[in-house]
Amino acid sequence: MENTPIQFLDTEQENALYIKRDDLIPYSFGGNKARKACLFFEEIDKGAYDCVVTYGSSHSNHCRIVSNMAAARGKKCYLIGPEEVSDTTFNSKLMQCFGAEIITVPVENVHETIEEQLHKLKKSGKKPYFIPGGGHGNLGTQAYVNCYNEIKEYEKANHIFFEYIFFASGTGTTQAGLICGQIENADNDRKIIGISIARRNPRGRNVVVDSVEEYMGNCNKEKVENNTIFIDNYIGHGYGKENEEIEDTIRAAMVKYGIPLDSTYTGKAFQGMKKYIAENNIKNKNILFIHTGGTPLFFDDLRRM
Ligand SMILES: *Cc1c(COP(=O)(O)O)cnc(C)c1O
Repeated sequence: MENTPIQFLDTEQENALYIKRDDLIPYSFGGNKARKACLFFEEIDKGAYDCVVTYGSSHSNHCRIVSNMAAARGKKCYLIGPEEVSDTTFNSKLMQCFGAEIITVPVENVHETIEEQLHKLKKSGKKPYFIPGGGHGNLGTQAYVNCYNEIKEYEKANHIFFEYIFFASGTGTTQAGLICGQIENADNDRKIIGISIARRNPRGRNVVVDSVEEYMGNCNKEKVENNTIFIDNYIGHGYGKENEEIEDTIRAAMVKYGIPLDSTYTGKAFQGMKKYIAENNIKNKNILFIHTGGTPLFFDDLRRM
């Protein structure tokens, strides 16, 4: 994969704000789920797998990308999702268009349904590959170690150093990868700040710490704890819940920069970042926002705006 572009965006409260466009990864509307899925499908291509099983809601960027990659290979894709979030969205329309088999069950039954589905497939002689929701796990983490190294390359080539990196943090895999990259490169002078879009602390933060430790194996636990900054102050009304302020942020970003944000992830994180900068009186720094994708969700928002 080619490095995604980093561009200067704006002066933000006396800081220089840059944006890394992972939304422009050239596959199925891009995003962090595309970056992760590429690595999962490298494994799938190496093995003799004939179908893919994963989970996520009808809003899931992950399910869109995985079902696209599976369809491109002529492999059946099974998507297990919660009944509670199964309304029609642009992502769910795309999943249908890729011929995925969508199995919706009450959220408390998701786990056992996955197990049953895998069991059923194996019993009928199939060889399914299971991808954890959101592309969680060491391969997903690896994808964002790679992203971190792209940022390092950009810094070297352009003689710049980003003191802060912000992005939307959900399952924490994106954040875990960035932190692993930071630790591997011994970059102690920057803060990597995940803006939670749903999870509260301590759980949200602990999941990131666990993912870092799982990926790095033997590592300095204190360092991992210190480097993991997971901010749960800007969740608003919860996962996927927009509010007027986020809507304004989305409209302004589209008008001013021509960049689509969405109310579930990037819009919420972008707004959270601005507040964090103000509340912590950050000035005269180079700040990088990672656009983690979700463009189909922007269009869902647009219909409501
Ligand atoms: C899934 C997702 C995230 C969160 O990524 P995690 O690695 O799960 O923390 C952020 N932004 C977008 C657009 C996503 O689809």
